[in-house]
Amino acid sequence: MSVYDEDANLVHGAASISSGSMPASPSRADVARLLPSVDELLKREPLASAQSQLGHEIALRAARRVLQRQREVILGSAATASPRDDIEALAQDAADLAWQAVTPSLQPVINATGVVIHTNLGRVPLCQPAIDAMAKLAGGYTNLEFDLNSGGRGDRQDHVQETLREVLGVEAAVVVNNNASAVLLALTALARGKEVIVSRGQAVEIGGGFRIPDVMRRSGAKLVEVGTTNRTYLRDYETAIGERTAALMRVHASNFRVIGFTAGVEIEEVARLARERRLLAIDDLGSGSLIDTSQFELIREPMVQHSVAAGVDVICFSGDKLLGGPQAGIIAGRREPVERCKRDPLMRAMRTDKLTMAALQATLLEYLKGRALETLPVWRMISAPLDALRRRAEAWAAQLPGSDTVAGRSAVGGGSLPQETLPTVLLRLPRQGSPQRQLAALRRCRPAIIARVQDDAVVLDPRTVQPAEEATLLSGISSVIS
Ligand SMILES: *Cc1c(COP(=O)(O)O)cnc(C)c1O
Repeated sequence: MSVYDEDANLVHGAASISSGSMPASPSRADVARLLPSVDELLKREPLASAQSQLGHEIALRAARRVLQRQREVILGSAATASPRDDIEALAQDAADLAWQAVTPSLQPVINATGVVIHTNLGRVPLCQPAIDAMAKLAGGYTNLEFDLNSGGRGDRQDHVQETLREVLGVEAAVVVNNNASAVLLALTALARGKEVIVSRGQAVEIGGGFRIPDVMRRSGAKLVEVGTTNRTYLRDYETAIGERTAALMRVHASNFRVIGFTAGVEIEEVARLARERRLLAIDDLGSGSLIDTSQFELIREPMVQHSVAAGVDVICFSGDKLLGGPQAGIIAGRREPVERCKRDPLMRAMRTDKLTMAALQATLLEYLKGRALETLPVWRMISAPLDALRRRAEAWAAQLPGSDTVAGRSAVGGGSLPQETLPTVLLRLPRQGSPQRQLAALRRCRPAIIARVQDDAVVLDPRTVQPAEEATLLSGISSVIS
């Protein structure tokens, strides 16, 4: 499994459970004899304290669950674990469970993997203005759908739409929960019951089960594939246009690349053909960068401004990939088709809340002010100079006996720029036991530290660690390697 595989599951360390002495094949009577009663368990520390602090109900549920699990373990129906051998251990388990029940499971982690857009870790950190905007609005009422001039009803889409018009020069825009929704909404509103022409090389699966042919079917549009997997020409689109054609669509093959004997059609040509034939040009850009990634020695991720200039009618892109904002999907382009998306009944099921709108608008304003490279974590991380990364990794190593630094590669991740990596300098921990055990110990830190393995050693990439996290990171690592 590669750290660059955005949808790879994180590996969890198996909890070790002490083994007790049990009959070889216990009967139900053995089980009854071996188990304490719920009341007995509730009187034992630390469950008794948990009960007095958290209340009877929570402690009781935890005690019952622990006893039930013990019963299953003894009877052999629970696959791997061996039973706890004393009531103290059971009381401890139940107390842990009770506290766990009242602790939010969603928690901050430190991403030291070097994968900048890490879908398993919530994609990208927000910029400070976005965090401030959310904090400012979260606890009170807002003018989300209220026009402060007229005192009448407003439209929640107007706030971000105005900013997107400024930033992109588009006529209209609408924001939904993610780009998957944006594509589904655009196809439903604009091509339901009609045909949409897509290059065969772009009828792809983006990841997380998002497949263009399936989304197309759901929208009620009919996918017409043209060309071959590796080569598609403009004439392929031309010959496929018929009575029922509603749109020509480009899908950016975000997370893979076809190399060698290939040919594609530029978005300008697709948009021009659509215009000539009075059809819509729809562009699913995926990441949709507003900044030219080629300045960081990466290949150029298709830019939203480029599609706007090419005359695409409807552009769909994510808010939380290279844009660097909150989870959102944006549909931007010409007024008439975007308005049709807004009026579609599906829109109501996909609308975002005030906090997303606030964070997205604040993020877009950083682009408008020309500060995105400095203030957005995603761009600060991608543009971090190698020297600065080396200095940080070396400073960490100096504080952690037995560790050193080693050259490595960071990834952009999130299905953007596949195979493209950035040079970095990694902190390498001393080899103590298996790397998997070290990784598991780092994950038990709070906040959890997520690292990776390179050449049998645990390594941590400064690129994705934010300066404010450094002190906690270093004390966490110290506790693991000492
Ligand atoms: C990522 C991606 C999507 C899905 O976007 P989400 O914001 O994850 O819902 C759709 N299309 C393309 C081309 C993508 O890269």
